[in-house]
Amino acid sequence: MALMITDECINCDVCEPECPNDAISQGEEIYQIDPARCTECVGHHDEPQCRKLCPVDCIPLHPDHVESRETLFSKYLRLTKTDEPAGIDTLETTAGHVCGN
Ligand code: SF4
Ligand code: SF4
Repeated sequence: MALMITDECINCDVCEPECPNDAISQGEEIYQIDPARCTECVGHHDEPQCRKLCPVDCIPLHPDHVESRETLFSKYLRLTKTDEPAGIDTLETTAGHVCGN
């Protein structure tokens, strides 16, 4: 799920440089997040950096952009142009894989 910035934003400039996906930019009045580029920091960090740093806690989940962790990781791979297939190493999945006998 991408995150979004609400109108409680005070334009403190803290979040924009910390986004690993360049998803945050200055909008007409407040900062905004491009949902096509926000991976909730999946692939880069354990938690969303913008939300962690925002002093007024105005970065909730975007209700119109619900995405699974797998989808977010695929987005991360697209953005970083990595050929590494999803599901290994950096992606923690809760689904078990049954080995064939
Ligand atoms: S959650 Fe991460 S990727 Fe998404 S806007 Fe915030 S810093 Fe950028
Ligand atoms: S950290 Fe929060 S208050 Fe500061 S610019 Fe980003 S969204 Fe706005």
